[in-house]
Amino acid sequence: MTPAPPDLPTVEGAVEVLRRGGLVAFPTETVYGLGADASNEAAVARIFAVKGRPPHHPLIVHLPSAEALEAWARGDLAAAHRLAERFWPGPLTLVLRRQPWVSHRVTGGAETVALRVPAHPLALELLRRFGGGIAAPSANRFGSVSPTTAQHVRQSLGDAVDLILDGGPCPVGVESTILDLSGSTPAVLRPGGVPREELEAVLGHALLVPARPNVPSPGQHPRHYSPTATLLLVERESLPWEAIRLSRAGRRVGVLLPPGSPPLPGEVHAAVRLPADLAEYARQLYALLFHLDELGCQVILATLPPEEGLGAAIADRLRRAAAGETPF
Ligand code: AMP
Ligand code: MG
Repeated sequence: MTPAPPDLPTVEGAVEVLRRGGLVAFPTETVYGLGADASNEAAVARIFAVKGRPPHHPLIVHLPSAEALEAWARGDLAAAHRLAERFWPGPLTLVLRRQPWVSHRVTGGAETVALRVPAHPLALELLRRFGGGIAAPSANRFGSVSPTTAQHVRQSLGDAVDLILDGGPCPVGVESTILDLSGSTPAVLRPGGVPREELEAVLGHALLVPARPNVPSPGQHPRHYSPTATLLLVERESLPWEAIRLSRAGRRVGVLLPPGSPPLPGEVHAAVRLPADLAEYARQLYALLFHLDELGCQVILATLPPEEGLGAAIADRLRRAAAGETPF
């Protein structure tokens, strides 16, 4: 007789884990999150321990609906509500002045708090049944590639998480856009799932994007979202030559091949062709990096996509994944 399969994790089970201060990995439309009760300091502290995340890095608090905004944020929330109406549930995080009760563990010591309502049926069901805010960064170790499947969460965090809800692959695939509304001028802190152009259309004005140096300066820990392999950004024209040169130098080279590029010779270890559609590219990006790692690539060559729409988020993640790497 074969043993009965273990019970699949349920949303109800996940709510219980959250209530007793545990950690739940759950799918969102962007990437899988590692969630804890945002009003339980000890539970939030566990997120940092499990991820190996520096304590001053603030977490995003996930809410069941925009109605919860006032409970977490204060000040003039008119613009926040206008954006929430258009983009929530969805991949937009708003940084607002925190309510005094919101823990500094969640805000990284800041007077602001980052809030969003995710557009994933399982995440929303979890939030509604739980009833409170769920603090959740991506469900991976600090600095590495964000997980877009439950399998990747298991590989990255294993038993360190109490329960993993499996909602299949994430439909957006890159993290949320972070918009800071706490100061006098709104600013995009991170490009993501909602293109800046769409925010500007709703706000009726151009948005400030604080400059991020192309070549990161040390100490700013811009390295993030990195595969195990060394990721190198190259110009499109030199991609085939770099792939061949590094392969002949004895490296196992993986290539993210831009659409329309000619195929590479067989001496290149692995090449995956990127979709022309940027939304599809964003959806696949992290899974492709995982895949090339699994194939044993030592180097991954990539080019930057056009930086419009979702291309800005993809380019941002590729730059950070490549930050600090020295060309061979
Ligand atoms: P993630 O790494 O996807 O968990 O997103 C967390 C990111 O959100 C942080 O690294 C910050 O860039 C941003 N963030 C969260 N809370 C705040 C805040 N209060 N002020 C500014 N940025 C924040
Ligand atoms: Mg992350």
